[in-house]
Amino acid sequence: MPRQRTVRSDDDHRLDKPPAARHTSAMTAATRSDLVADILVVGGGMGGLATAIALARGGFSVLLADEQAPATTTDPGFDGRVSAIAHASCQLLRAIGAYEALAPYGQPILDIRVTDGRPGEKPSPLFLHFDHQAIGDEPFGMILENRHIRLGLMAVIAGIPSIRVLAPVRVVGTERGTAGAIAHLADGRKIRARLIVACDGRASPLREEAGIRKVAWDYSQDGIVTTVEHELPHQGVACEHFLPSGPFAILPMTGNRCSLVWTERRELTPALMAMARDAFDVEMRRRLGDGLGAARSVGPRFAYPLAFHMATRFVDRRLALVGDAAHGLHPIAGQGLNLGLRDTAALAEVLADGARLGLDPGDDTLLDRYERWRRVDSVVMGSVMDGLNRLFSNDAMPLRLARDLGLAAVERLPGLKKFFMHHARGTVGKLPRLLEGKPL
Ligand SMILES: Cc1cc2nc3c(=O)[nH]c(=O)nc-3n(C[C@H](O)[C@H](O)[C@H](O)COP(=O)(O)OP(=O)(O)OC[C@H]3O[C@@H](n4cnc5c(N)ncnc54)[C@H](O)[C@@H]3O)c2cc1C
Repeated sequence: MPRQRTVRSDDDHRLDKPPAARHTSAMTAATRSDLVADILVVGGGMGGLATAIALARGGFSVLLADEQAPATTTDPGFDGRVSAIAHASCQLLRAIGAYEALAPYGQPILDIRVTDGRPGEKPSPLFLHFDHQAIGDEPFGMILENRHIRLGLMAVIAGIPSIRVLAPVRVVGTERGTAGAIAHLADGRKIRARLIVACDGRASPLREEAGIRKVAWDYSQDGIVTTVEHELPHQGVACEHFLPSGPFAILPMTGNRCSLVWTERRELTPALMAMARDAFDVEMRRRLGDGLGAARSVGPRFAYPLAFHMATRFVDRRLALVGDAAHGLHPIAGQGLNLGLRDTAALAEVLADGARLGLDPGDDTLLDRYERWRRVDSVVMGSVMDGLNRLFSNDAMPLRLARDLGLAAVERLPGLKKFFMHHARGTVGKLPRLLEGKPL
């Protein structure tokens, strides 16, 4: 049955619910006989949604399977986080035709401020300040609510006939051979594809099934996330305030709101999560400072366990790992999703180039090229984020002094400072075409 195209309505401009009718029609249309596509993307998180779109733009037919229903993953109680989307990732969103759906909900990041201190004390006078105008007109990126990213990407997918969405369905196993791949669903159905892309998150059942090992450790820290309303405008400034328990990120949202990612020692999390709002706000303000005027938390609190992992391989026969399935970082600089979008862009480029030469998307040489391109960048980024967290989640005097001097040195060395600013914008290294805003 052909996929139904729906005329755009005013509702499409408001990202407050998933395009339910279009998803439902896609689900009921996917009968036993038509579960065939060039590429199966397993996992409909932000990474899987963006990957499905990028691959479809590369000319492939895509089946996107997620074990959770869109109505669940876009519920306001599902994911209270925002994401700092770097400039290069914004370029990717532009190139795959998703930027217009998302940009109205984004807060541009104009400045980044890095400070060091203790709760209740003024930050150290030696701090770093990045102004986007020092390296061009474009902001460092934008802050978007994860819920809006999911809704926006789902709305784009609903308009692409070559993507079919199956959700909720769970992939329980795969058979991958020289002739093709088959994914088995929990309901007994099968999907046939040339390549399976695992966007199935940190626990990645597909990575485990393929026997791909990972290097992993836990930080014994949680990221407590909540939204704060404040009196004074934030001027688009994102702050990373380093406290002894870990980084305290203040991410500007639209309006006079910001999202906090408060890194805390895990043993303190239950008490902070259970605190009455007034008591929580007292603790919150001791860390936030008074630069934004009167401030109070609004909405629910969320706690995310923080851990590191890096897969030892990113590919297997007719299988590619993308996003958190391949790597998971400390959110100290908001790089996890950005790194995953670099995987998406590189994979889409390698496969589209291969298709121009008549190669099968599951071809080993293409997958090897993807692996070579992405592993080194991921290991470097993961190591830097890990090192920064260890250096800054510590109150020992020699370390405090060393990092304050380090911040001051970067602040005073224009070349080094610009280098860090280009990193924040994600415009360093050999960029896939999509990250430069170019088509595949
Ligand atoms: C506190 C915090 C703040 C962060 N802030 C930022 C930030 O500012 N910027 C940034 O770039 N990154 C940030 N990150 C990281 C970012 O959130 C993640 O890297 C990103 O969400 C990973 O997306 P993903 O699609 O790879 O995986 P996931 O979001 O985990 O999606 C995996 C999907 O796979 C599905 N799935 C799993 N198994 C199966 C199966 N067997 N069958 C079918 N479906 C399956 C699941 O239902 C799920 O939808 C942050 C992380 C944390 C913890």
